[in-house]
Amino acid sequence: MSLNPKRTVAELKELRELTGDENGAQRVAWTDVWQKARKWFATKLVGLPIEHHYDAAGNNWITLRGASEKTLLIGGHLDSVPNGGWLDGSLNVLAGLEVLRRFAAEFKGKPPVTIRLVDWADEEGARFGRSLLGSSGFAGTHSIAADRVRTDKDGITMEDALRRCGVHMDHFQEAEKERANAAAYIELHIEQGPVLEKLGLPLGVVLGTKGVERHAITFYGQEAHSGATPMKQRKDALAAAAKLALEIRNIAGKHSDAVCTMGSLKTFPGIVTAVVGRCEATLDQRDLDAKVLAQMYREAQEASKRFAAEESCTVEWSRIWSIEPIPFHSHLVELCEQAVREISGNSHRLPSGPLHDAAEVSRAGIPTVMMFVQSLRGISHNKIEDTREEHLEMSVAALDKLATKTVDWILKAN
Ligand SMILES: [Zn+2]
Repeated sequence: MSLNPKRTVAELKELRELTGDENGAQRVAWTDVWQKARKWFATKLVGLPIEHHYDAAGNNWITLRGASEKTLLIGGHLDSVPNGGWLDGSLNVLAGLEVLRRFAAEFKGKPPVTIRLVDWADEEGARFGRSLLGSSGFAGTHSIAADRVRTDKDGITMEDALRRCGVHMDHFQEAEKERANAAAYIELHIEQGPVLEKLGLPLGVVLGTKGVERHAITFYGQEAHSGATPMKQRKDALAAAAKLALEIRNIAGKHSDAVCTMGSLKTFPGIVTAVVGRCEATLDQRDLDAKVLAQMYREAQEASKRFAAEESCTVEWSRIWSIEPIPFHSHLVELCEQAVREISGNSHRLPSGPLHDAAEVSRAGIPTVMMFVQSLRGISHNKIEDTREEHLEMSVAALDKLATKTVDWILKAN
């Protein structure tokens, strides 16, 4: 039995039928539909020479023991956002399954190194607002003490929802045991952006996940009557914020892959007859280079002070969240590029704007790389998310090539 990428596409459609509705995929982690998806996935493992268990963080591990205990990990996530797409996360898992089947067949159940496929629990954080939960348990970077009291929109705590699925948060740390013997981690994912489609390339090599600086910025001016206050005497907090909203395009524009987004803007008192006295904005800045990220953050701060002064306002910043850039393993990036070229003739290196489980694995010190396959229209987290079937098939073949190259590297390097 050799690699059969068409089977991966057929299984993705099967999963879509089983766990989607007219609004898209509904495999939200810690829900019945998600558990249904995992039960369906277990039926695909019947007859394979594997061991299968869930770890203390709810991650699903499928282990094909090899001649060496050194282990290649292949990962993905079956969970989706509500009304999500059919490929985000599940392509990785089902392509990984196909690669595992090929190794099992080719090496009669005993490949040169151990191969483990993992379906991470709750990559999306859709229900409790905490992304990368399972992989953070594996990496030992979780924040369980703070997370367990999070509630969903119905007031159910994370702790209760997880317990219902057999995960006890007191034992969460035991998931770190799964790191034993891990020599490399590879993950295939849809791009979720428009870059590869624009370049006309089916596949790309991911350099790492971008670091994020996320801040709340508040401009303070003076509420005043819109009829009585002359233009020159206003302290208009919105005017200062609006200048910054335009300036971030220049700040990001100096760097090829950097992005800055002002995604929320609230005005107070927010009525038609008053000059804005206070304006609350958010700024999300991302780049793969920590120096670029730091520079953009500094420039945005300086610009905000300048615009506040121009409008006779003041400004305050507070950090909402940040994460450092996580560059992937340089040799695995090379191997991924070779695999992509062998399948599609061309390759392109790009950073990932979204975070992925691969970032957590990399933070745990395990050599990691990701491969992207083109997303049509660059759309994801939406029922219209799609990728051409021929590209899906190529991505399975390229992941398989990358797996073989990585196994060879593990044998040589260790
Ligand atoms: Zn995903």
